[in-house]
Amino acid sequence: MGSAVLIEAIHAIRDFSVAKEKEAVPVRTSDAFGNLVFNDEVQQARLPKPVYHALRRTMTHGEPLDPSAADAVAKAMKEWAVEHGATHYTHWFQPLTGITAEKHDSFLQLTNEGKAVAEFSGKELIKGEPDASSFPSGGMRSTFEARGYTAWDPTSPPWLLYSGGAVTLVIPTAFVSWTGEALDKKTPLLRSMEALSKQAIRVLRLFGSTAERVVTTCGSEQEYFLIDGYFYLSRPDLINAGRTLFGARPPKGQELEDQYFGAIPERVMAFMSEVESELYKVGVPVKTRHNEVAPSQYEIAPIFENANVSTDHQMMTMETMRRTAPKYGLACLLHEKPFAGVNGSGKHVNWSISDDEGHNLLSPGANPHDNMQFLVFCTAVVRAVNKWQGLLRASIASAGNDHRLGANEAPPAIISVFLGDMLTDIFEQIEKGLAKSTKHGGELDTGVMVLPKLPRDAGDRNRTSPFAFTGNKFEFRAVSANQSIAMPNIALNVAVTESLDFMATELEKATKAGKSIEKAVAELLPKVIKENKRIIFNGNNYSMEWEKEAARRGLLNLRNTVDALPQLVAKDVIAAFEKYKILNEREVRARYDVMLEQYIKTVNVEGQLMVLMANRYILPAAFAYQKQVAESVAAVKSAGGRSIEGKKVLDRITKLTDTLKQRSDKLARALEHESNGSAEKHAKHFRDGVITAMAALRETGDDLELMIPHETWPLATYREMLFIK
Ligand code: ADP
Ligand code: MG
Repeated sequence: MGSAVLIEAIHAIRDFSVAKEKEAVPVRTSDAFGNLVFNDEVQQARLPKPVYHALRRTMTHGEPLDPSAADAVAKAMKEWAVEHGATHYTHWFQPLTGITAEKHDSFLQLTNEGKAVAEFSGKELIKGEPDASSFPSGGMRSTFEARGYTAWDPTSPPWLLYSGGAVTLVIPTAFVSWTGEALDKKTPLLRSMEALSKQAIRVLRLFGSTAERVVTTCGSEQEYFLIDGYFYLSRPDLINAGRTLFGARPPKGQELEDQYFGAIPERVMAFMSEVESELYKVGVPVKTRHNEVAPSQYEIAPIFENANVSTDHQMMTMETMRRTAPKYGLACLLHEKPFAGVNGSGKHVNWSISDDEGHNLLSPGANPHDNMQFLVFCTAVVRAVNKWQGLLRASIASAGNDHRLGANEAPPAIISVFLGDMLTDIFEQIEKGLAKSTKHGGELDTGVMVLPKLPRDAGDRNRTSPFAFTGNKFEFRAVSANQSIAMPNIALNVAVTESLDFMATELEKATKAGKSIEKAVAELLPKVIKENKRIIFNGNNYSMEWEKEAARRGLLNLRNTVDALPQLVAKDVIAAFEKYKILNEREVRARYDVMLEQYIKTVNVEGQLMVLMANRYILPAAFAYQKQVAESVAAVKSAGGRSIEGKKVLDRITKLTDTLKQRSDKLARALEHESNGSAEKHAKHFRDGVITAMAALRETGDDLELMIPHETWPLATYREMLFIK
């Protein structure tokens, strides 16, 4: 990188340290937690009792809120917001693009006397009408019926956004078309949680539980990179694609592993501290921070919550990180693979199910009876992952994640379940039916009743598994850093809902026929385990042997987005979405269309950027150096000498320069491809034609980087971006 930018960056880092010594780092106190949230405490204090109770019922039981109560809630919300300096409100929603959208409206209204007053009615709280025609809808709305509505989600609390000196009341909403079809990610998530609850309750009933509802819980660990803002702004690829499209490996990579859990640099610490305090105030329970494996890579994780709230909070976390980084002269990279050859970033979605009496249903209990229930739920999840592996794989498919999955640093594209030795052993025992005939206390116990007591935290960990049981929850580790966690949550919920339905149906049949629940379970589990155990794998998922073994087991190995996405519209997947009323066929297909289109768009943008960078950044530098060497060789010659090595350098730079131009032209031609009505064929062309042309061009660009003098090279290098902090 030319020295000017480097010097700027170094100055910024130094100036920062100097400034920070004088200034105290923001303090995070527990009383600040949620003080910008219209939470239960505020509701209780500000709402008339009957309204408060009506709202609670809406929140916990999904009962509709009548218009007069809605008016009262809106009034209290507005007063609270205005007291905090809010002038606007926004219906915040999650369109299919993967980011969030908001349209701000002022509270101001004119009275008949022409005076301005702050107003906010129940109607405005409950329903909004953003001009939504340009959000992707996968063909669910044609332009003439472009209207979409945002509908208040009372189960996720509103909060105040402080940004750019303005205060805005943010209302989490669902986004639906005028026909009621879901145009967003929240609606199906809520529907899927509802569906799972129904089936889980059926299972719980068989064990004598009195719980009325079940919620899925979620906590997601977010990995990200932070690099200096000057470097970021000097790289068109980072700005426009979120990842580097050129960049030679640095002499020092992550091989020393001296970064993982190492000391956090001061400027990064200041950034984290502010992000945490901002998130704290808006009620996001962030808990852990640490360095990650790659240089300049970090992680932030919250305490788990109801999956719907957790999904909203996850979006807020990503937004807050992006927004806060520039204040510290940093850029926050959430891309799955910002740097080739360096670990990418994932998001581990920790997922469990909990009943309304506070029991975690995936927590092995203290007594065998609880264990039996636990084993039914756990087996249901294993079955779900096996049966619906295609859907789960599709739910995490994106152009960005393609660089990560299977790259020897992230779980492979093969979905499997890690259970740990202890649980696997128990599963094997059950499958063989060994537990059945064991004598216990002089009596013959039936089936799983006699299973060994399970420890609460089955300690062992496997960092290579895409889907791991970690003691009292499953961790979906193949999710990517950049994506909303809604889709993986929805996919999991659909899969587990179907599986619980199956288990409940079988168990109900058996108990109705007069069998005890113990006997029913003892008969069902071995069968289900036998049929689904191929999905269980506790070994090293990164190894070649696993790929072969997985193939023998008949597991899917869908290496890229184009291969994985059709799973989303497989017949049985659509049928399951429809059966449990999570999405209808049109809604599922719309998601497929949007995901495929995003793949094409992403690769297209990257390809265009590479052509631009090759022609306008790298090629001019290559020509400059070529000329410099040529002049040097000529000068030696005219002085009567012979520059043997100089001539070799000239030949090599000439060859690389020509190759760069040829490859960039080839990529440009590949990008001219048109869809001609088939998005699938178009996507395949991008995967096979464009991405390979990109890889070839990159190779030459990176070779040139290693030749061209430091002052002449126009892009910040990996060495600079990753290690100067
Ligand atoms: P690690 O995976 O690094 O060992 P933890 O065990 O602390 O980390 O948990 C990681 C994440 O899992 C945290 O966000 C935590 O809140 C979340 N988590 C813990 N229990 C549950 C649960 N029952 N449901 C969903 N997420 C959970
Ligand atoms: Mg984890």
